[in-house]
Amino acid sequence: MSASDHPAKPAEILAQLQIDMVGVRALLLDMDGVLVLKNAPIPGAAEALAALDARDIPYAIGTNTSLVSRTTLARELGRAGLPVEADRIVSAVSVAAAYVRRRFAQAPLYVLAAPDALTEFHGLTLLSHDEAAEREARVAAVVVGDAAEEFTPRNMQSAFALLRNGARFVAMHKNRWWLTPAGVMLDAGAYVVGLEYVTQRRALVTGKPSRAFFAEGVTQLDRLASGGRETHSISAAEVAMVGDDLWNDVRGAQKAGLRGVFVRSGKHGEAELARVSSERGGRAPDAIAPSLVEVVAAMER
Ligand SMILES: [Mg+2]
Repeated sequence: MSASDHPAKPAEILAQLQIDMVGVRALLLDMDGVLVLKNAPIPGAAEALAALDARDIPYAIGTNTSLVSRTTLARELGRAGLPVEADRIVSAVSVAAAYVRRRFAQAPLYVLAAPDALTEFHGLTLLSHDEAAEREARVAAVVVGDAAEEFTPRNMQSAFALLRNGARFVAMHKNRWWLTPAGVMLDAGAYVVGLEYVTQRRALVTGKPSRAFFAEGVTQLDRLASGGRETHSISAAEVAMVGDDLWNDVRGAQKAGLRGVFVRSGKHGEAELARVSSERGGRAPDAIAPSLVEVVAAMER
């Protein structure tokens, strides 16, 4: 039986999952559609996290959320009944911050992001919008996130000029639009792609499905498994990304050398499964489960 078949009985599902999960030592968990759905916890998710804690299985949350810091996200998850520490979260913001911290240390940077997300860049030298607009301004990197109201013509001009002067171009994601209580909203993708167009350069994207994201996820899991140090004790092949998005989570993880596990508790279903397996260069998920509950149960032996 292949992973794409859909066995009917819970015992069969579990037996197949146990086979498909052999060799997995750590989990990277998507947030929306895996732990929460429309801000409410998915049934069994809290117990699944508690089981991972009890069994000392390293896990981290890997999310493209880029509007807020990990500290704020951890607080929001806690309020939803999912106690998760901030250092267990890898986000499009934290990967961007880790990247510029590692590469550019104290060099000045221009970061277009929401105020709460900016706290991830603490200790780094960030130019204000006024400083960035000065003719002689120079930075090591321009980082574009969810800047919302701050995507002004003046700030976009600053980003453009700084990029033209040789700054590295980093983007948290290229999402086109998102759904808010007020309706559909233009997302950062329009600004990132606009800057790519005018500079004729490609941004390094730090959110899923980029390699940079999954590499940082594996590094974070390694740190969690070895008390804060980087020991390279966990390899990408030993990490399973559990997600409800067949492209951003599952295919992205597979391309970065991780296992891609699809859960049916979120936005994608049969139609997307058929598409991802049949498209060019496509591949079925390495494992399929109804939800995180069964994934964790399959690891319990
Ligand atoms: Mg999701």
